[in-house]
Amino acid sequence: MNIKIFILSSGGYGARIINNIANRGFSSGIVGLEEIHENTPEFIEDIDEYIPDNLPSCDLILAIGLMGDINLIIPGVAKKTGARSIIVSINHPSQIPPGLQKEIEELVEDRVIVFAKPFCSLKPTGDPYIDEFVRYFGKPEMEIKADGLIKKINVIRGAPCGSTWYIAEELEGIPVEEAEFEAGKKLHNYPCLASMRTDPQVGDTLMHLAGYQIKEAVKKGLGFAQRWAVVDPETCLGGKDCHHLCLEKCPQVKIGEDTIVIREDGKAWIDPASCGCCELCIPECPHGSIEIVQKRTSLK
Ligand code: SF4
Ligand code: SF4
Repeated sequence: MNIKIFILSSGGYGARIINNIANRGFSSGIVGLEEIHENTPEFIEDIDEYIPDNLPSCDLILAIGLMGDINLIIPGVAKKTGARSIIVSINHPSQIPPGLQKEIEELVEDRVIVFAKPFCSLKPTGDPYIDEFVRYFGKPEMEIKADGLIKKINVIRGAPCGSTWYIAEELEGIPVEEAEFEAGKKLHNYPCLASMRTDPQVGDTLMHLAGYQIKEAVKKGLGFAQRWAVVDPETCLGGKDCHHLCLEKCPQVKIGEDTIVIREDGKAWIDPASCGCCELCIPECPHGSIEIVQKRTSLK
């Protein structure tokens, strides 16, 4: 499907994503680009003044790296371009506070809008335009050929910033046991531009969350995990005295992953593939039922 994309971008993060998207075959789908100055006022009284003139028609809007009130141009740009679908990428905790996000959601009315926090956690949504973009860009997925060493990595879907393709090349030739850990290190080297400040809504940094996504892609590509948090089903009391505090604390769960699920008997279970080993759930459990284990386990 050919889709028409209009991009609102600000700063170095936006520029990097545009370059990657354009270099990987999406350039013909980009019908327009508006660079938003990084120093727009934190509070804006008349947002209409900031909506660009002469906007092209499009299907999908990508808003990348816009900080604070300037994000309020998104609904106006969607109306003028006729876009039905919107992706807003969040890479910094103070980029779009929850109140502002709610205001934008109300203003876009019946259009589909997703807030991807971080951008490399974006998964298919059921919306045809967003999902066409997510065929190529979003939460990383890899096919890995290995025989003790990593032979070849094929990126099925990559982080919009391009880090997945860089990491895929860097991992070739290393022992499979080291790949999960090395993937996180290579993300820092790229470097990932997500913030290292703790996001109050998630309880972790967005750079760490980006690391969990690439490690998950490597684990799934290899078919095994090496390190993750495990719940002891003998001592987990299935919500008694704890109201599943582990589930409430997990940053992966907060961004929509099924990293901790509650089984039919009420006990918690942790997914080895998507657990990022942040350890935030461990002190939450009043029964001491969670610990990090390090041993190779098949994901099948
Ligand atoms: S260690 Fe616990 S809180 Fe952290 S990602 Fe894994 S399950 Fe979630
Ligand atoms: S692991 Fe601990 S916090 Fe989580 S449900 Fe079981 S008892 Fe509750």
